[in-house]
Amino acid sequence: MRDILLVRFGEVHLKGLNRPQFLRALTERVRHAARPFGGHVWLDDGRIYISDMDDARACAERVSQVFGIHSVSQAVEMGKDDFEAVLRQAVHMTRGMTGSFKVKARRADKRYPLDSPAICQLAGRRILEANQDLRVDVKHPEHVLEIEIRGNATLHIGRIEGVGGMPMGTNGKACLLLSGGIDSPVAGYMVARRGVTLMAVHFHSFPYTSERARAKVIELARILSRTCGRIELYIAPFTDIQMRVHEKCPGAYGTLIMRRQMMRVAERVARRRGGQAMVTGESIGQVASQTMEALGCTDDACGLSIFRPLIGFDKSEIIARAEAIGTFATSSLPYEDCCTVFMPRHPVTHPRLERVQEAELLLGDALEGLIEASAQGAERVVLCDGRIAEGGEQPQ
Ligand code: ATP
Ligand code: MG
Repeated sequence: MRDILLVRFGEVHLKGLNRPQFLRALTERVRHAARPFGGHVWLDDGRIYISDMDDARACAERVSQVFGIHSVSQAVEMGKDDFEAVLRQAVHMTRGMTGSFKVKARRADKRYPLDSPAICQLAGRRILEANQDLRVDVKHPEHVLEIEIRGNATLHIGRIEGVGGMPMGTNGKACLLLSGGIDSPVAGYMVARRGVTLMAVHFHSFPYTSERARAKVIELARILSRTCGRIELYIAPFTDIQMRVHEKCPGAYGTLIMRRQMMRVAERVARRRGGQAMVTGESIGQVASQTMEALGCTDDACGLSIFRPLIGFDKSEIIARAEAIGTFATSSLPYEDCCTVFMPRHPVTHPRLERVQEAELLLGDALEGLIEASAQGAERVVLCDGRIAEGGEQPQ
């Protein structure tokens, strides 16, 4: 008899796609997540199993955060031939429980002498005899003991819900525009959960934005990398572009024109690193630069698709998600963002694209050089599994 983890994934969703590739990627990610606990991981018959972990609960919690996992159960695995021993184990696992329960049985081994209803009946009766504080409720039980008969017998009670989604690395690569705010880390997480590899670009306007603001963004990317895997973060110098926009363009268009340049720089960095789409934390109507017209003006400056997973979310929903993924506290630190430093007092809220394009022409021929310099000058920091893997050393 030994403790194992039984890991379920969304089988149905994998059908029709490249299933073997998905299963391989998923098993590999689970193996990676279980490694710090010393777990041995294998895939068998539509399930992933883990044995030999030194802290089953902690390992289960960690594995439940792997993209593509639907639930994890701490189970006991034992021989199936001695059914009397299985019954004793069922009694042991329900000892001290109160309230309602039911037994759920699954028999994958069709040659096993007992069928599922018989297993339920025998185990249910034995548990009731041993524990007067329990009663059976098949419709809405408080506790469910599951018994599965496959190569061995496994017994477990309860599940830890997984995060769902698709296995990491199975759906291409996207470039997150990562500010220090609450929204963009959540947006990045949502896209990564669909199996997309993330890279990120952050715009830094030294000396208008501080070293602490830079460190905060590295920290956000580090937190994301605990679940989203390896993230290449590019911290692009943005001061020269912002100064030029501030000097040359009408103030009311300042923010929009600046956002268009952000897209241009980020697109360049993304394309050079294999990024296939952009991701932002925008949602309709949140600020002046996120009206329908303003979003359209941003789209116009970018040749890649822009994904905005938070588009229909209220701020309170975004905050709840930021708390759940562990970025909220860091995002709430009050360091300035480059957008706010040069914020016009009266930004246009319903811009016309032609007007924006005209105003942008005032930047002149220098613009191309400025965009390229920002893309070229970006500092690279690589985050992986919650650690800084490359770059990112603090300046003296
Ligand atoms: P957030 O909470 O993500 O900062 P926000 O509500 O403050 O969002 P804006 O400042 O208008 O909204 O930014 C909208 C989006 O533009 C952000 O979600 C992010 O994707 C991108 N963005 C803003 N500032 C930066 C920056 N300095 N570097 C990279 N991307 C940025
Ligand atoms: Mg912001």
